[in-house]
Amino acid sequence: MGSIVLYIEDNPDNMMLVKRALESRGYTLLEAPDGSTGVAIAQQQDVDLILLDINLPDIDGYDVARRIRASEKTSLAYVPIIAITANALKGDAEKALSAGCDVYMSKPINIRELWARVEAFVPAPNTK
Ligand code: MN
Repeated sequence: MGSIVLYIEDNPDNMMLVKRALESRGYTLLEAPDGSTGVAIAQQQDVDLILLDINLPDIDGYDVARRIRASEKTSLAYVPIIAITANALKGDAEKALSAGCDVYMSKPINIRELWARVEAFVPAPNTK
C-alpha cells in the first residue's frame, strides 16, 4: 500500500507544517512549489494522494486539478485530490469540486483535520 503524498503549495510555512505533520505519520511527502511542477510530478511519479493549494503563482489550483484529471496517465483520473482554499468564499468549494477535486479544506490548516482527511483516502503508515 503506497503512502506518497504530493503537496502543491507555494507557501513555505504551510509546506513545512504539512511536511512535519504527514511525515510524523509515516507518509512520504513530495513537494511542488507551483502548479506546473505539481502536474509534472504527478505525471512522472507514483502518487497516492494530492494536496492542492488553490492560489498558486503560475496556474491556479482549479487548472491544476483539471490538467491532472485530463492526463493520459490512467491513475490520475482516480487519485484523491484534496483542495486547500485560502478563503472560504462562497463558490470556492464548488469550483474545486467541479474541477475534479474530491474534497476541500480551508486555511489555516488544522493538523487534526488534515490527518483525518488524508487518512480517509490513504491509511497512515504509522498508526500511533
Ligand atoms: Mn498559495
